[in-house]
Amino acid sequence: MSYAPPIRRPLEGERFHVIVIGGGINGVAIARECARAGRRTLLVEQHDFAAGTTSRATRIIHGGLRYLEHAEIGLVHESLVERRRLLRERPHLVHPIHFLLALDQNSGRSALAIRTGLWLYRRLGGGKLQAGSSREDQQKLERLLDSGRRWSVFSYEDAQCEFPERLVAEWLVEATEAGAVARNHTQVLAVDVRHRRVVGVLLRDQLSGKEERVEATWIINATGPWADRICQRSRIQTPHPMVGGVRGSHIVLPRFAGAPDAAVYTEAVDKRPIFVIPWNEQVLVGTTEVSDQGDPGKVQPSPEEIDYLVRSLLHLFPGVKLSTADIRYTFAGVRPLPFAPKENASAVTRKHHLHDHAPDGAEHMISVIGGKLTTAAELARQCASKIGASRKSSKTLAIASAQNAELLLDRWVIEIGNRGGISEDTARGIVEWHGRRALDISRMALRSAELRAPLCSHTEHIVAEAVDAFTGEGAVTLGDVLLRRVPVALGACWSPTCSREAAARIGAVMGWNETQSADQLEAFESERSAFLRKPARVSSVLEAAAD
Ligand SMILES: Cc1cc2nc3c(=O)[nH]c(=O)nc-3n(C[C@H](O)[C@H](O)[C@H](O)COP(=O)(O)OP(=O)(O)OC[C@H]3O[C@@H](n4cnc5c(N)ncnc54)[C@H](O)[C@@H]3O)c2cc1C
Repeated sequence: MSYAPPIRRPLEGERFHVIVIGGGINGVAIARECARAGRRTLLVEQHDFAAGTTSRATRIIHGGLRYLEHAEIGLVHESLVERRRLLRERPHLVHPIHFLLALDQNSGRSALAIRTGLWLYRRLGGGKLQAGSSREDQQKLERLLDSGRRWSVFSYEDAQCEFPERLVAEWLVEATEAGAVARNHTQVLAVDVRHRRVVGVLLRDQLSGKEERVEATWIINATGPWADRICQRSRIQTPHPMVGGVRGSHIVLPRFAGAPDAAVYTEAVDKRPIFVIPWNEQVLVGTTEVSDQGDPGKVQPSPEEIDYLVRSLLHLFPGVKLSTADIRYTFAGVRPLPFAPKENASAVTRKHHLHDHAPDGAEHMISVIGGKLTTAAELARQCASKIGASRKSSKTLAIASAQNAELLLDRWVIEIGNRGGISEDTARGIVEWHGRRALDISRMALRSAELRAPLCSHTEHIVAEAVDAFTGEGAVTLGDVLLRRVPVALGACWSPTCSREAAARIGAVMGWNETQSADQLEAFESERSAFLRKPARVSSVLEAAAD
C-alpha cells in the first residue's frame, strides 16, 4: 500500500470571502479564525507553512519581561493571557520553563527595579507557573558564571514552544477541518484592485508554474517581513513603508559540560538582553538586532553577529571550551516590526497593528504588521473581528489544565504503548509533537514495519509521522516534513546520512520512484543548508578561546 498527498484542485475563477496571503503563524491563525466563523477562506503560502520568520524565532512564549522597561503593560498583559491559553490548550507543545536572570555589577538595571519588574510580571501572568525551578539550577549557573564579577541572579518562570512549526501544523489542520482551503508552494503575484477596492489575487503554483486568478471580498496580507513587497507588486501605495525589518540571529551549540538546565536571560557584551536556552537537546543563543531591508527569504546571520553571540557567551561563561567547529548551525529571521526609522530597534514596539488600506486606495485589504508567536491567536481574533468574521462563542480547545497536562500526555503514551509495536520512547516522542493526533498516527503505524521504522538511526520519530504529514498536514516536499511537520532535521545529530536514510524510508512508503527520491533529497539538502548555516569564517575570538 502506498500513500499520496491530497490532489491540489484548480482554483481558477473560484470566489472566497477571505484570502489570507502568508502562511506563517499569523496567517494560519487568521485563516483558522475566519474559517471557524463560517467564512469561505483561502490561505496561500509561497513556500511552506511556518517556513518564514515563524521558524526563526527564539521560541519563547512570553509576556516579554523587557517590554516592562518600555512601559508596555498592555502588551505584556495580553501576551501573558495568551501564554496561559497556550499552556492550557497545547500542553504537548508549550511548556513552562525556569528562567534565571543573571546580571553583573556593571548592569544598568538595579536589583530593586528587577524585583519590582518580576513582581509585576508574575501578577500580570496570574501567578507562578510550575516550571520545575530549583536551587540546583541556580547553583549550576553560578558555577559557570565569570567568578571575577559580582552577579545577581533572579529566578522567574516563562514558557517555551520548542517547535512553533508544529503549533502551526496543528492550527492548519484545524483551519482546513473548519473548511479553509490551504495552498502552500503557491505565491501571490499581485492583488487585483478595481475602483479602489480589492477584488482578488493572481496566484502562481510554484510546483507546476500554473497561474490562476481567484476572487475575494477581503484580502489579508499576513506576509510578515514581506508585507511591503505585496503592496509594491500590486501598486498599492502606503504613505511610508509599513515594516522596518530587523534581523535577529541565533547560534546553536551542543550541550557543553555543565550547561545550565534553566534558560538564562542576561546581558550581551554591549549590555543588550540575550538568551541562552536549552532547546531540542542543544543550546540556543540569541539574538541580535540589525536593520535588514533585504529579501527576507535570503536572510542569514553575518559573521559579526556570530562573533558577537559567541563573545557574549564566553564573556558570561569564560570557562566553557568552545571552538567554531562546535557551532552546529546558525539561523536568522527578520522581525516584521512596525516602520520606525528614528527609534532604536530594541525600543520599537512588539505590539502588532492592523493596517487598513482603504485610504491607500485598496478597500477591503488589511495588512498585519508586527506581532509575536505568543500573541498570534489574539491577533487573529482581532483581525477576524475587523472584517466582521468574529465567532459567536470563541470556545477554546481545553485539552487540559496546566496541572494535569502531564498526566494526560502520559495516558496517551501508555495507550499507544499498549497497542504494541511501538516503544515507549517513540510513543512519547510522537505524543510530544502530535498531541491527540498521536493516537491516529500510532494506529497507522500498526499497519506495517516500514511505517514503524525510525526516520533515521538517531531518532525515535517514525515514518508514519512523515506519511501523516503528507496525507493530513499539507506537506508537499521532504523539507516540509523533516524541517517543519516532523522537525527531526533540526536535531543534534542530523547529518547527510540521516537525510538519505529518511528519504529512502519515506520514499519507499510514499511510492516515490528513483528520480522523485533523488529530487526530493536534493531539494531538501539545499533548503536545509540555506536555512541552518554552518559559520563560514573562523572568528579570531573563537580561535583564541579554543587554544
Ligand atoms: C529573531 C527572532 C526571534 C523571535 N523570538 C520570538 C520569541 O521568542 N517569541 C515570540 O513570541 N515571538 C518571537 N519572534 C517574533 C515571531 O517570530 C514573529 O512575530 C512571527 O513569527 C511572525 O509571523 P508571521 O506569520 O507574521 O510572519 P512569517 O512567519 O514570516 O510568515 C509570513 C509568510 O508569508 C509568506 N509570503 C510572503 N510573500 C508571499 C507571497 N507573495 N505569496 C504567498 N506567501 C507569501 C512567507 O513565505 C512567509 O511564510 C521572533 C522573531 C525573530 C525574527
